[in-house]
Amino acid sequence: MILKPGRERSLLRRHPWVFSGAIERIAGSPGSGDTVEVRASDGRFLAWAAYSPKSQIRARVWSFEESEQPDGALLRGRLEQAVALRRGLGLQETTNALRLVHGEADGLPGLIVDRYADTLVAQVLSAGVERWRDILADALMESTGCARIYERSDADVRALEGLGTRAGILRGDAPEAPMDIVEHGLRCAVDVIHGQKTGFYLDQRDNRRRIRELAMGRDVLNCFCYTGGFSLAALAGEAASVVSVDSSGPALELARRNAAVNGFDASRTEWIEADVFRYLRDARSQGRTFDLIVLDPPKFAPTEKHAPAAARAYKDINLNALRLLRRGGLLATFSCSGGVSAELFQKIVAGAAADAGASAAILGRFHAAADHPVLLEFPEGEYLKGLLLRRN
Ligand code: SAH
Repeated sequence: MILKPGRERSLLRRHPWVFSGAIERIAGSPGSGDTVEVRASDGRFLAWAAYSPKSQIRARVWSFEESEQPDGALLRGRLEQAVALRRGLGLQETTNALRLVHGEADGLPGLIVDRYADTLVAQVLSAGVERWRDILADALMESTGCARIYERSDADVRALEGLGTRAGILRGDAPEAPMDIVEHGLRCAVDVIHGQKTGFYLDQRDNRRRIRELAMGRDVLNCFCYTGGFSLAALAGEAASVVSVDSSGPALELARRNAAVNGFDASRTEWIEADVFRYLRDARSQGRTFDLIVLDPPKFAPTEKHAPAAARAYKDINLNALRLLRRGGLLATFSCSGGVSAELFQKIVAGAAADAGASAAILGRFHAAADHPVLLEFPEGEYLKGLLLRRN
């Protein structure tokens, strides 16, 4: 794959993607997932990459070293490194659920693997990983000693790679669904078969912990609660009451069950199946107010193209949440949109506060947990960002 003059620059900075517009020509006729050698217009070697003929991201880099032509040994090595990195994070006492492979950040673009106890859940999201799927699956079983791999390659982004959806057992026997994990001493049911993504939002682990530290005595509203991650944290932190809202009935069912399993008094909890946009307005007309509100919506902007519509949605929920927040109350507000930067997100929230007529102070910033590393050379990987605000 020969690039246009000047288009080698991002690769020289080790950015791992080649966009279709950067390509001058392709010698030969590689198939989907085949390894291509990427060269600058002057013929200089740049990278080995996986070819993806249908995607705008036409190639994803396996290696920037000419001597490292991708093979089973290279990919096995990457997996072993990924597993070793997590082992070194010291999470053993904290949880038995963590992200083992985080795509580009682990040198495996398009592969996500989450570990829930002895079950691995894999998402194959690129043509390159699709090609090496069997070798990667065997290596995963070996390097982790886990009992099974369940595949959840049913994310929309596969269509952009020209791949269909697939879900099912990849190695070992069928997983229990739902199964239990433990995070900071709290038991949580994860449905790896029917749940969202791989079943659980591991990236919010540290942030749930922070909410637990802040919840004491407060009336809490958890919007987009899914299976109740932040709600359980608030209950464990001795919140006075916790209202949790999500549009998914099955998620709320698990959330309720999670609260019961952990022995939390049902009189402190309220579970509401509703659209959050609607709920925030209804709560206001009912005169409800809270001391701590969590807003953790789904990805409104998968790419920058969606940013304007996403900005309106973020502004709407932040504005209406601030209106429900008592003076001195806290707002933990998140965006997991790759297409919305931390800077833009802060601007949107500032706009929401201005329109709500509220002054607020930033007490902290939220990020994904350390098992979701971000490469300096690939800032797009920093999708989760959040602000902890105090309403003055
Ligand atoms: N905070 C959660 C993860 C939230 S994921 C945790 O820590 O586990 C986003 C959630 O938003 C999903 O559960 C999805 O069902 C829900 N959702 C998406 N759109 C919604 C809407 N308009 N109103 C209410 N819930 C919505």
